[in-house]
Amino acid sequence: MRLHWHRTDLRPSDNLALVSPDDSEEPRSSGSRPPAGDDPILPVYVFDPKILDHAAPPRVAFVLDSLAALREWYRDRESDLLVVRGEAPAELARLADDYGVDTVSWAQAYSGLGRRRDDRVADHLNEMGVETRIVHDHLLHEPGSITTNAGEPYSVYSYFWKKWKDREKRGSVPGPGADRLADPPHDTPIPTLDDLGFDRPEAEIPPGGYMEARHRLNDFCSDDIYRYEDARDDPAANATSRLSPHLTHGTVGIRTVHDRVVRARETAPNDATREAVETFRGELAWREFYHHVLYFNPEVVTENYRDYENPIEWRDDPEALQAWKDGETGYPIVDAGMRQLRAEAYMHNRVRMIVASFLTKDLLIDWREGYDWFRRNLVDHNPANDNGGWQWAASTGTDAQPYFRIFNPMTQGERHDPDAEYIREYVPELRGVDADLIHDWHDLSPTQRRRTAPDYPAPIVEHSERREQALAMFERARGED
Ligand code: FAD
Repeated sequence: MRLHWHRTDLRPSDNLALVSPDDSEEPRSSGSRPPAGDDPILPVYVFDPKILDHAAPPRVAFVLDSLAALREWYRDRESDLLVVRGEAPAELARLADDYGVDTVSWAQAYSGLGRRRDDRVADHLNEMGVETRIVHDHLLHEPGSITTNAGEPYSVYSYFWKKWKDREKRGSVPGPGADRLADPPHDTPIPTLDDLGFDRPEAEIPPGGYMEARHRLNDFCSDDIYRYEDARDDPAANATSRLSPHLTHGTVGIRTVHDRVVRARETAPNDATREAVETFRGELAWREFYHHVLYFNPEVVTENYRDYENPIEWRDDPEALQAWKDGETGYPIVDAGMRQLRAEAYMHNRVRMIVASFLTKDLLIDWREGYDWFRRNLVDHNPANDNGGWQWAASTGTDAQPYFRIFNPMTQGERHDPDAEYIREYVPELRGVDADLIHDWHDLSPTQRRRTAPDYPAPIVEHSERREQALAMFERARGED
């Protein structure tokens, strides 16, 4: 019997660790023998309090929804998903003992925390004579497989992309047949948020589950992908894939996504739409790039990737931080983004870049504060992409925005939301207001502001002053003062 430990692979098909994983790339197995291909598979999900310590209501809600869908898939095949609560090493060891399990399989983790935990689990199981099989599944190209000619991991995305885009990719794999699945041992209920000690999220969480992911992928690839080049930076168009929670929690396999995207490229009506598909593939490569960065530099979750001569003197400003979290900064595009996050546990990519730049370069607050807020509020949070995005915006990351290129939040709003449609959707105080006045909010007099939108705040900082202070802060950090 093989126990398969589902974690961020909440799907039955295109799951390399779930189906016989003998031919995966470079398996990091503590046992030597791959699991016998014919062993019945017993799937399990473990709610481990130590893992839950790092979780947040939006993600847990999405996981619960996805588990229900996954369980249905198993039940339709006369099997079942075991759902247990307790520390993973002890729970997996107990199940191995109870059900005569020889091997436990799971998909590779990429963060330092995840890998240390997995090592502990593997050691514990190996000591009992149970083999473990850790399989690369989450990325098209695993860390270490795309490197510079000297064998080093890339720290510049454009070079990474050049190798990534033409490298042959594995296609998706089918799920296990019903004959491979173990009989259901006993019914184990899926806990509720309340059972797990989480509050119901304030935000409306998108539906989870592998079927939902499949629909979203197909919808996007039959239509919006062809306008991705033009519409991806327009938050009001809502024309990106919204696949991020599915890719984070593994309700869709990356090979399935890539296969479908390649099919869209093959059927693209012209060069421009083919180019749009390629731009989308570039985003999938960013995801892989940041996972590689995290894998080789696990400390980036708390430390700057890029060393400056001196520590950056971030400001301690709890009031400004709270205004940013509440979407009350008086910069309409920033506030719209922060309120979208509260309402949907999601934020459009362009706006994530704007709000992250605003926190670090206008409020001069440490990116770690922003990362922590995103970690607690995003349904798609994963340390690789989230950290990559924050360190890019803060000019501390691998391929970061140069410190002297600072977004102007008013011009960003005007350029990417010219009709203020996105802003008005999330900032009701500005609903009746002309787009021109919204984009000029910063320059209006207090009387004009009172007359235009009495309930919307004045800007809490002056961008041009803060820009100078940010430049000085980075120059001091660079030792140029
Ligand atoms: P699409 O544009 O449809 O892109 C498809 C997929 O490509 C995404 O689902 C994602 O997996 C990947 N992708 C797209 N853009 C990026 C990018 N810049 N970096 C890495 N991968 C990318 N993404 C997350 O998945 N989780 C996070 O926690 C996260 N935090 C971020 C924080 C900041 C400060 C910034 C600037 C970006 C962050 N991103 C994060 C990247 C990006 O904003 C989201 O992936 C994207 O907005 C998700 O929407 P989508 O699925 O419609 O994206």
